Amino acid sequence: MSQPYDRVFNFSAGPCTLPVEVLEEARDGMMNYKGSGMSVMEMSHRSASFEAILAEAEADLRKLLNVPDNYKILFQQGGASMHASIIAMQYMKQGDMPQYITTGTWGQKSMEYAKLLGDLDEIYSGKADKYRCAPEFDSLKLNPKAAYHYYTSNETIQGVQFQTDPTVDGTWVCDMSSDILARVLDVNKYGIIYAGAQKNQGPAGVVTVIVRDDMLARVPENMTPMFDYRAQAENDSMFNTPPCWTIYMCGLVYKWVERQGGVAEMNRRNKEKAGIIYKAIDESGGFYKGHAAKEVRSIMNVSFTLPDEELTKKFVKESEAAKLDGLKGHRSVGGIRASIYNAFPKEGCEALASFMRDFAARS
Ligand code: PMP
Repeated sequence: MSQPYDRVFNFSAGPCTLPVEVLEEARDGMMNYKGSGMSVMEMSHRSASFEAILAEAEADLRKLLNVPDNYKILFQQGGASMHASIIAMQYMKQGDMPQYITTGTWGQKSMEYAKLLGDLDEIYSGKADKYRCAPEFDSLKLNPKAAYHYYTSNETIQGVQFQTDPTVDGTWVCDMSSDILARVLDVNKYGIIYAGAQKNQGPAGVVTVIVRDDMLARVPENMTPMFDYRAQAENDSMFNTPPCWTIYMCGLVYKWVERQGGVAEMNRRNKEKAGIIYKAIDESGGFYKGHAAKEVRSIMNVSFTLPDEELTKKFVKESEAAKLDGLKGHRSVGGIRASIYNAFPKEGCEALASFMRDFAARS
């Protein structure tokens, strides 16, 4: 079945597929956005039109995630990588050593950035096990005086996902770049949630930061304002020129999520979609091997391997010819990775599962 505009099924890990409806809306507003006589790309960030776009995006994200009033939502630049560093800069010295839980590449990187700034305590590492597992929250030895407790809810490369919000109290700081808006959250469990846009929210170029008021109050006085969440909050994410177009696109995606039935419906669909691919892995008689342990399998990134390198290359080449794009796994894990974020259609998962069955049968 061909896709609208002859598009491929895009399994890229991010930037990645956006909803066709959203792309069409952006296209339609490109030359003259709502009678303003210009596109959002060309608009002053201080204009009433853009201020309305920003306020609406903030309100829509707040509603989708049920973000309480004692949290601010910031739209920031610098990528998720920069915010891993900014968080360490702001909070590292505000208590005992921060505690890090590393279940994959992104958590590991964030911890390395923080280590450059001071001592920390790694209380769980999945490294020895090639990042296949994640701990139960209540098995962790948390220091209540730690500056914060850091983890990555979904490891995009390894496809390892925490299945719940933290079940024990802590000053939780969570990188939710690759599963925000994919499941219902209890935001109250977190001090800070941050997420790069380019998976479930929109194009690359913005990071959403959801930060509790007491965490804003803890920012040291001597931070340079660009690295100071309190200054960013006081200026409603407009301390300097924000990434206007990206914020606009995220706003369109938030409205699309709402129209689909919200985050709970996204979660239902994502489980169903991921289940289709995991089933093909589990029924392959060992031809395909899932990377993550079954209990922590991601509903966003399905990572798996084939018996050898040659078959993997063949799989990638033939899948591309079948319009299944972007399946090559990250160089650090190898194999195949299917990223199937919110906007990725179920038909694409079915097409991949059927390709996998056919490929295994003739290999
Ligand atoms: N955290 C996670 C979970 C990611 O998946 C990524 C990017 N794939 C990053 C952080 C880094 O994001 P950025 O490239 O925006 O710095």
